[in-house]
Amino acid sequence: MLIKIEQEQSIRKTVADPKIQKAVYSATARLKEKRSEVVSPEALPEYQELREQAHRIKRHAMENLDYYLEQFEKNLTAHGGKLIYARDGNEVADFILNLAKERGVNMLVKSKSMTTEEIHLNERLEHHKLETVETDLGEYIIQLAGDRPYHIVAPAVHMTRQDVGEVLTRTLHVERSDVPEEQAKIARVTLREKFLAAGIGISGANFLVADSGAVTIVENEGNARLCTTAPKIHIAVAGMEKIIPRAQDLAVFLKLLGRSGTGQLLTVYTSFLSGPRRAGEVDGPEEFYVVLMDNGRTKLLADAEKRESLFCIRCGACLNACPVYRKIGGHNYPGAYSGPIGAIITPQYAGVAKDPWLPFASSLCGACAEVCPVKIDIPKILLSLRREVAEDNAGEAGSPMERTAFRMFAWVMRRPKLYALGARIAGKFAGLPGLTSFGPAAKWGSTREVPRPAAKSFRDQWRDRRKGAR
Ligand code: SF4
Repeated sequence: MLIKIEQEQSIRKTVADPKIQKAVYSATARLKEKRSEVVSPEALPEYQELREQAHRIKRHAMENLDYYLEQFEKNLTAHGGKLIYARDGNEVADFILNLAKERGVNMLVKSKSMTTEEIHLNERLEHHKLETVETDLGEYIIQLAGDRPYHIVAPAVHMTRQDVGEVLTRTLHVERSDVPEEQAKIARVTLREKFLAAGIGISGANFLVADSGAVTIVENEGNARLCTTAPKIHIAVAGMEKIIPRAQDLAVFLKLLGRSGTGQLLTVYTSFLSGPRRAGEVDGPEEFYVVLMDNGRTKLLADAEKRESLFCIRCGACLNACPVYRKIGGHNYPGAYSGPIGAIITPQYAGVAKDPWLPFASSLCGACAEVCPVKIDIPKILLSLRREVAEDNAGEAGSPMERTAFRMFAWVMRRPKLYALGARIAGKFAGLPGLTSFGPAAKWGSTREVPRPAAKSFRDQWRDRRKGAR
């Protein structure tokens, strides 16, 4: 059994929860629809060419990562920034904790960053009594609720405005309001104090531009700008795959990112940060650090087949398109990344043995690959991971009955005449209840719709057609 019983129960619970189903289904449908409008051939005729270009740039950057990392470091240092290499989450947290201690900082503000979610940075810092405040509205609500993000772009997608109203009242002791604008106002007032008091601002990075040593951040709320400019110290935590060669490559990625994620032509704010405040500048931090994290990425880089998982620009389009994500929701995926991208990167970062069921959490319908702006062949990578799981679990994958059924199926498929005879016999029973309605197969069939055999098989129809043509 690949999936743990608790995991299966949790999935069943989500599927049976009408409130979550409605919230997730309608939010992802909206995002999906908006994306389709702005990437249609009428709206963006060069869309497919942009995807090709983005794929080529990412491939080139990953194949020459050592060169571009060196270039990035040289340019960042020239502007007064510092690059810190971190092998894993422990090293990222240690660096921040030591710096906070040295500078006497006891509170920091954070903008949205999936990389820091990946390493549970908040928990690590809070464990050492360093107050850590999320400032993206969705992330802030999630933090107050003691929850974790449900979606890589829309972290509180599973919550209704009533849920948000309840969380704000319970945790901030403010008057209850279920009006989103008023809720945003409550968060804004509380967070403003935090921005002003924080000694360190932490951000992620959407892109690290090698030829200028700049960190590029896209966002819609302006909170990332405040996090990176109001406190005296700014630390950007980024996975090493965020590197792109040239500033002009942003012309490709920025056109794709906003459109694919939220259906926007461009996000509201795009910031280019390349070092601490210079003489004569009115704002900006006094110290500027980029923490470049590996955490399993170099292992992935070494695999020529699955390396393209690192091309991801975290737009979330594959989640919105995925029928499995939209049904089982974000919390049933282990790790920070959910949906199709989570199903391929989590097992590669953590090893397939940890959650062997994950690459199987897909119908392989291909919707994810179709919408991916950097053309990652997600189904191909899923199949490759499934092969690894099967090799690791030789003799354990599937129940004995399932294994016997597939062995018989393979035996029949290698004998075309027998297959044709079987299809013809099955056709005679087309009107009767399916085999999966009875006995031990009933449990398997209870969650699957098994198509009835056709009364007349394709082969017979084809033969008759050819006869008629003669
Ligand atoms: S895999 Fe592609 S579609 Fe999914 S989040 Fe990454 S870039 Fe977006």
